Amino acid sequence: MNIKSKLSLLALAVVTTVGSVTAQHQHRGDCGVTYSMEQQLPTYSEKDVQLFKEAHPERFAAINIPIVFHTVADGNGDGRAQRIGILNSLHRMNTDYAPHGIAFYLKDGGFNEINSSSLFSMASSNGSVVQNFKDGAAVDIFVTENADTNNGIGTTLGFYSPGGDYIIIRKKEMADSSATLSHEVGHYFSLRHPHSGWDEPYDIDANGLQVPFTNVPGTNALIELMDGSNCATAADGLCDTAPDYLLGFSSGFCGQNSNVLDYNGDPLVSQANLSMGYFSDCPKYVFTPQQVDRMKINIASSGRNFLDNTHTPNETVITGDLVITTPEAASTVENYNGVEVAWEGVQDADNYIVQIVNFSDASDFYEYTTTNTSIYVTDLEPNSVYRLTVKPYNDAYTGFPEVGFRFQTGSTTTAVEDPSFVSDFMVYPNPSNSTQNILVDMTSEWSGNATISITDVAGKVIKSQAVQIVNGKQQLVANQSGDIQSGVYFLQLATSQGTVTRKIIIQ
Ligand SMILES: [Zn+2]
Repeated sequence: MNIKSKLSLLALAVVTTVGSVTAQHQHRGDCGVTYSMEQQLPTYSEKDVQLFKEAHPERFAAINIPIVFHTVADGNGDGRAQRIGILNSLHRMNTDYAPHGIAFYLKDGGFNEINSSSLFSMASSNGSVVQNFKDGAAVDIFVTENADTNNGIGTTLGFYSPGGDYIIIRKKEMADSSATLSHEVGHYFSLRHPHSGWDEPYDIDANGLQVPFTNVPGTNALIELMDGSNCATAADGLCDTAPDYLLGFSSGFCGQNSNVLDYNGDPLVSQANLSMGYFSDCPKYVFTPQQVDRMKINIASSGRNFLDNTHTPNETVITGDLVITTPEAASTVENYNGVEVAWEGVQDADNYIVQIVNFSDASDFYEYTTTNTSIYVTDLEPNSVYRLTVKPYNDAYTGFPEVGFRFQTGSTTTAVEDPSFVSDFMVYPNPSNSTQNILVDMTSEWSGNATISITDVAGKVIKSQAVQIVNGKQQLVANQSGDIQSGVYFLQLATSQGTVTRKIIIQ
């Protein structure tokens, strides 16, 4: 980022630092950015934009923008959005912005997992908590259970907070690869709605087909006219976006079915396919040239210095056929706590995401990110049907369609890596409770000193004791004194001949 060009922008870039999402304004059933929030967005006059473009044409060439998705689960770690859906949403956004030379890439892997009940269910009233989790050097997007602003007439799909400078999007929008992500990022880069000022649609029943006022009731915003006479000051302040009185909110299709006339009596003709508008079901949504200029001048402004980067993202389109080799499609694997998943890598892919979803409970899923072409999964339940999905991606190309199939786990707990002297290794009761001793039955063809330990999933040793292994059948006791909290742990028997590991659950 050119410092000199930044300085020349200081005069026209006003990035607001005050204000926050409030619950004082009714929101629509779509985006939570109200007129009062839009008024906190910076504005750039067409004259200033043209002067800057002439002085700094390089700032209107290709731009790479770092992005971080904060996936928020509840306090127990449940309910988190699936990364594959987010990758697909990112691809849709990159497709929308690519014609304008703007590419978004996953910064440092691109995902940050947060467990927070308050953010999960009510991010809009916990702005200070959101601030604590921001990356600060990327477009910060928080994917939550809902994006409600607690005072709405419908469901809020997402919003940009001008005061907090972050985006909240509910996870369903990401799962569906909806248009919401591109829209909210438009707000992030200063764009207003083409219907700015209309927090409620123009009410034909109450006011008649011809709009009888010059300002919007309620917000008092100047109403944009069809003759273009006030296009630079009314609504979004842009003259290449048509007047819009929010009638797309209820039209239910990509167009207008009303015969509304503006204040002058000119027929209202809105542009339905704008990304920043509310018309639904358009096959494609676009940004106008003036909208693109404003986004680029916002990116170039000093308030966006934190997005500057020297990273060269990998936009290479991934091609070929991804073939999962292990397990086989529709097969039943013998073990459940040691399942190898392997696939033939595809050309030009830097990363893979492996997703395993419980077929009878979609909220029970595991996702693993790797640069390898195999992983070893120890998290699954016995005798359960799962859907396995593998998706290759690069940090700026996430459009390769995922492939996958169903498979079933068996009931065998034997991990494949047990040392050869051990057989019939069985841990019980499992699950147990915190006051029960955990017993280990085993048969050994070796004798000697060993250590039996219980570690948490992060590898921290919770309990450890020395035991003696003898030849033949035996029972070991992993003593407990009732002070292990409920959760998932690993029991390990470590010997000079190798280590046996089993997952245990304390309830
Ligand atoms: Zn919006």
